[in-house]
Amino acid sequence: MIERGLLIVLSGPSGVGKGTVRKALFEQEDIKLQYSISATTRKPREGEVDGVDYFFKPREEFERMIENKKLLEWAEYVGNYYGTPVDYVEQTLSEGKDVFLEIEVQGALQVKEAFPEGLFIFLAPPSLSELKSRIVNRGTETEDLINNRMRVAKEEIELMDAYDYVVENDKVENACARIRAIVTAEHCRRDRI
Ligand code: 5GP
Repeated sequence: MIERGLLIVLSGPSGVGKGTVRKALFEQEDIKLQYSISATTRKPREGEVDGVDYFFKPREEFERMIENKKLLEWAEYVGNYYGTPVDYVEQTLSEGKDVFLEIEVQGALQVKEAFPEGLFIFLAPPSLSELKSRIVNRGTETEDLINNRMRVAKEEIELMDAYDYVVENDKVENACARIRAIVTAEHCRRDRI
């Protein structure tokens, strides 16, 4: 019998750099994790490709996926839906491969309910003031929105204790190295001959 793969969830507050860390991780050639592509109702950004970055869906179709229980988890984030298609996750885990999700905090908590045996990693900013300057430096947000994001981020940081590991994102390459070390260690801990 094939041993099931490991479900790895990377989450953390908005603005901490989850997407950047995930992309850097998957650029490494020897990476053996399978990235689960999310569905979303947000419009593609320049350069984003349907079926590569996301499955871009109209709202009605996404709502049908929720109704038909096609999503492992889903959340509404700044006016758009995001969710993880459940079939890909189930199929890939049953083939013995590790699946990697990069999702926001509400979704991660839902996955923890469904898959308590998953590996939950919280990506943390070096400090709250550093997080604020990263959000400000994106240059895309008004002051109200920045304050709102900071309020949500503080609430999200309080949920850190629900995770197995906290990885500080001081530098992308350091965060990637820590995540790889955690996954390797987790296999040594769980896989028995
Ligand atoms: P963005 O619009 O910048 O690509 O993503 C916005 C947020 O949605 C990020 O925090 C990202 O981690 C999160 N996200 C992406 N896919 C999913 C998903 O399938 N489920 C949930 N809950 N969050 C997601």
